[in-house]
Amino acid sequence: MKLHEYQSKDLLSKFGVKVPKGDVTTDPEQARQIAESLGGKVVVKAQVLMGGRGKAGGVKLFDNANDAAAFTKELIGKKLVSIQNPAGMIVEKVLVGELIDIAEEYYLSVLTDRATARVVVMISKEGGMEIEEVADKNPDAIVRLHVDPAWGLSDYELREAVQKARIPKPAQSQMVQMIKKLVKAYVEADADLIEINPCALTPDNVLIAADAKVSIDENALYRHKEYGETAEDSAEDPIEAEAARRGIAYVRLGGDIGIMGNGAGLVMCSLDEVNAAGGKPADFLDVGGGASADRVKSCVELVLMDPNVKGLLINIFGGITRGDEVAKGLLAAFDELNLTIPVVARIDGTAAEEGLAILKGSDKLVGASTMQEAAKKIVELAYA
Ligand code: GDP
Ligand code: MN
Repeated sequence: MKLHEYQSKDLLSKFGVKVPKGDVTTDPEQARQIAESLGGKVVVKAQVLMGGRGKAGGVKLFDNANDAAAFTKELIGKKLVSIQNPAGMIVEKVLVGELIDIAEEYYLSVLTDRATARVVVMISKEGGMEIEEVADKNPDAIVRLHVDPAWGLSDYELREAVQKARIPKPAQSQMVQMIKKLVKAYVEADADLIEINPCALTPDNVLIAADAKVSIDENALYRHKEYGETAEDSAEDPIEAEAARRGIAYVRLGGDIGIMGNGAGLVMCSLDEVNAAGGKPADFLDVGGGASADRVKSCVELVLMDPNVKGLLINIFGGITRGDEVAKGLLAAFDELNLTIPVVARIDGTAAEEGLAILKGSDKLVGASTMQEAAKKIVELAYA
């Protein structure tokens, strides 16, 4: 779960990371007051969870509170569009922060390296731009330091890495300290990403996190009720936010064929089959174990919140849950739902034949016995 910049900075400052002063608001008048309290020289930053925010016009520097307030007024309610997020996001809040005089911009991040199953720190002198761009054009400019799970990081390793990244002398020991705090925050807050870009060095040699992105591992949210409260407004998509409230694993994919199945692997296969049949999946949805009528209904409702959905594919493999029970669950759910779009349900596994026989009588669902057949059918029917 991605946290907003202001939430990320709050979290990191609790671990002793130096961040600019500032406050978040939805109101231009309040933005003026915050700016005045910071001496008028401020940066106003849209709090949207998207990459390329600065280039999209979401970050602007000011030398007086009036202009900061005027920009806030302009920004609130506006949709920002970037290369990373072509669909765009509406700005609801802005962060008004003290203006940092920046001499140099560096890049720091902490994440989990799946290949080594360790926490890795990435350090680069090339801050300010997207790290993917640096990785592309100048891969040697990124230094990676793996954290030993038993020993942690020792100062000498950190110093060596920072020097290898060619961070100038006056910033080196500050960066070593900052990385230690970031790693501590990463572990203790159960983060799955911390990114400081830029990590700014001021002309008088103070190292400060001018931007911050923290993402918390969703599976650990129960340990962090304080972040959980913001989970809903932090979700990037309103349907994904609703799915989080319902406890359903759902990812919106942007196409128009709704997809649900039991088990993540099976749903992934369904996406591939729909793609292969010439359709565009609208979502990933894992119904989870069993397929009670209530659960199915809640899942179907969720898929249909996406107005682009023209057809629905349901892919269920019966294991402990029998195919005939699944079919009954589907029929009960669809009895109560007034659908106007075609639905194809593939049932396989335990008691699949009995299940398909039950669906034969329905005018709301078309049965199928293989995934390929189901994918073909739903694409035909949806795009007819
Ligand atoms: P992003 O585009 O979402 O990554 O937004 P950032 O917070 O990283 O801001 C984009 C760029 O704006 C930074 O790389 C800086 O060059 C500039 N910027 C942001 N905050 C400040 C600030 O306080 N002072 C100065 N001088 N520049 C800033
Ligand atoms: Mn940034």
